[in-house]
Amino acid sequence: MRRKLVAANWKMNGDKATVESLLSEFVQNVDGQSIDAVVFPPALYVGQVADKLAGSGIEFGTQNVHHADKGAFTGELSLSMVKEFGCRYVLVGHSERRELFGEDDALVADKVAAALAADVTPMLCVGETLEQREQGVTEKVVGGQIQAVLDKVGIAAFERIVIAYEPVWAIGTGKTATPEQAQEVHAFIRKQLAGSDESVARKCRLLYGGSVKAANAQELFKQPDIDGGLVGGASLLADEFIAICQAAK
Ligand code: PEP
Repeated sequence: MRRKLVAANWKMNGDKATVESLLSEFVQNVDGQSIDAVVFPPALYVGQVADKLAGSGIEFGTQNVHHADKGAFTGELSLSMVKEFGCRYVLVGHSERRELFGEDDALVADKVAAALAADVTPMLCVGETLEQREQGVTEKVVGGQIQAVLDKVGIAAFERIVIAYEPVWAIGTGKTATPEQAQEVHAFIRKQLAGSDESVARKCRLLYGGSVKAANAQELFKQPDIDGGLVGGASLLADEFIAICQAAK
């Protein structure tokens, strides 16, 4: 059985007071024993998050990382740095990083490899744009994004990678993929992995992301190949995120 995982991506939102109040609610109400829960705050707040989540069973990580361990990379953070602050996860290849910051499949694969080498779990984000869906190339796009990482790290590494399928047209738009649409792509991803190793494919957790909220989480999480969610906007609302975590139990 794959353990459900629900992750909060706060993006570039919040301040010290918000971190304090949201995490107070999460610590009291998210059952970190029954599911894996992970918070991705803006990197500057990771120290505060680490203190607040100590002993809670809720994990945390950064929304991005550089693949080099150190050097002249102004503005970047290395895996040894995020690890020193207790991060067990890192988001890699979020569509906003791909679109707005020019991250391509090769760079994403380098970041996944670096995270694995540092023993930090990469949460690899993949997904098609609306245009690509309408052109009928969803599987080609998502399959290609995953293949680039497979070619770099090999199939065995996918036991330690979490994949988040996030259709770009559903992120922050309020337009959630239907459970059937999401399941279809998740089944495709699992089949792609199974083409290399069935046992790894069975173990790899596949999250859905894109306007997940309390009202649609249960239906999504009931699908056989959906193992939890990556939640943006709704993770900034304590009651919503807590209800989404409960829906995953
Ligand atoms: C995300 O940022 O990964 C995301 C899925 O955002 P939202 O839930 O707001 O669509």
